[in-house]
Amino acid sequence: MTEHPVVIAGGGPTGLMLAGELALAGVDVAIVERRAGQVLDGSRAGGLHSRSIEVLDQRGIADRFLSQGQVTQVGSFSGIPLHISDFPTRHNYGLALWQNRFEEILAAWVGELEVPIYRGRDVTGFAQDSTGVDIQLSDGVSLRAEYLAGCDGGRSLVRKEAGIEFPGWEPSISTLIAEVEMSEEPEFGIRRDDKGVHALGPLDDGARVRVVVREEDLGQTGEPTLRDLSEVLVAVRGTDYGLRSATWISRFTDMTRQAASYREGRVLLAGDAAHVHYPVGGQGLNIGLQDAVNLGWKLAQVVNETSPETLLDTYHAERHPVAARVLQNTMAQTALTRSDDRTDALRNTMSELLSMDEPRKRFAAMVSGLDVHYELGEGHPLVGRRTPDLDLVTADGPVRVFTLLHDARPVLLNLGEPGGIDIAPWADRIQLVDAEYVGAWELPVVGVVTAPTAVLIRPDGHVAWVGDGTDPGLREALTTWFGPPTTA
Ligand SMILES: Cc1cc2nc3c(=O)[nH]c(=O)nc-3n(C[C@H](O)[C@H](O)[C@H](O)COP(=O)(O)OP(=O)(O)OC[C@H]3O[C@@H](n4cnc5c(N)ncnc54)[C@H](O)[C@@H]3O)c2cc1C
Repeated sequence: MTEHPVVIAGGGPTGLMLAGELALAGVDVAIVERRAGQVLDGSRAGGLHSRSIEVLDQRGIADRFLSQGQVTQVGSFSGIPLHISDFPTRHNYGLALWQNRFEEILAAWVGELEVPIYRGRDVTGFAQDSTGVDIQLSDGVSLRAEYLAGCDGGRSLVRKEAGIEFPGWEPSISTLIAEVEMSEEPEFGIRRDDKGVHALGPLDDGARVRVVVREEDLGQTGEPTLRDLSEVLVAVRGTDYGLRSATWISRFTDMTRQAASYREGRVLLAGDAAHVHYPVGGQGLNIGLQDAVNLGWKLAQVVNETSPETLLDTYHAERHPVAARVLQNTMAQTALTRSDDRTDALRNTMSELLSMDEPRKRFAAMVSGLDVHYELGEGHPLVGRRTPDLDLVTADGPVRVFTLLHDARPVLLNLGEPGGIDIAPWADRIQLVDAEYVGAWELPVVGVVTAPTAVLIRPDGHVAWVGDGTDPGLREALTTWFGPPTTA
């Protein structure tokens, strides 16, 4: 039986990112992916929010995506624009980039890291025991792993087979999405009426149209057809604009659910496998990517035996609340997509509110993922939040904080007396960098914070500890996050 310490079911955005993170940490990881190639049937997600661009920047690959998409203000709350151009981040914008292109670029990076992908086959079942997991594939092959990560999307087989509950809310609306050819030029743009929001827009090839239209019948479960689409278009627009063929038709709903636990023994869930919601606000792919970046280094440390298994419990503790909040905000945004007099009044009220600076900043930070704050204890406001990407000066020259994270290794930034911190028992795991920084430390929404003397930054870019080198809390933080000290 072929063995890999970690097997990932599903090579979509989440599975690919997790594989990259594990490979960077030296873990032999493999992906099992149903699709024969990376190509997606349709374009799906439309882009990235600021925090996702930052996360890619932390690995030195943001430019690959930025060069292929359109930098723009993508944030919105149910269509009400939320700009972040005044936010203290190098990436004070989002990126319009279709998911199929996004996946191709991410897969190329994972390919460079030499992660094997078992393509064109499914994970069909698994059995876990005290030392590992036996994983069955649809071609009859079995794999053995220490851990199985379910990144296999909203209908996750891994989640179901692990017996993890998926509580939430049944759909209240259903939407058809398609890429089609039409003989007449339709009226492009977003229209909002008592049937909800429907949008038609030209695709990049100039020949096809992307249609997103709400259907009346909530009970449809089969694959939608051209005829279904035609009927729905006629119902909402009075014509199907000479609809003649489709390269992709799909259906999505606002079913909103979240896995009760992100871990069951040696099985972990991330991305849509762990949470599904209506795509309003464009957050699903983004939080999946960020789940992967939270989980990757932790799982690597457990597999590499530098940290105990309990470190994995912090993954659920930190990421479950983030998705729970996204579920709440998407349900609120979905309610606002209706268009009747009362909803319009509420929408106008929200628009007015979000035109004010403070509410706009709070909501924009939420949707862009820049406000994520893990509960890592009291103390300096940086603790639990993402580190800003500051321009540092070191003895070797200038360097950005995110550049120090490219290898996905933790960093202890000493901004005090050079040589004033000794972490010899962790020297094999942590980069100790003496640096100077003269500007302000400013966080989205929070504002300017006291300049720290030293900062311990996890590989996911979140701050684990702030203090000075004599603080006994440093030893504790190092042990909690990066394992016990090495004894000589
Ligand atoms: C119309 C629409 C628009 C959207 N717009 C946005 C947006 O603008 N921004 C945003 O952030 N999100 C958006 N989303 C959501 C986004 O597409 C998803 O959140 C994202 O794809 C989740 O990534 P994932 O890797 O977790 O899951 P998936 O993308 O579903 O990937 C799962 C992978 O697992 C594979 N797989 C499944 N089962 C198995 C199995 N048993 N064995 C092996 N492989 C398996 C699948 O082939 C797939 O490749 C949108 C979604 C829709 C439908």
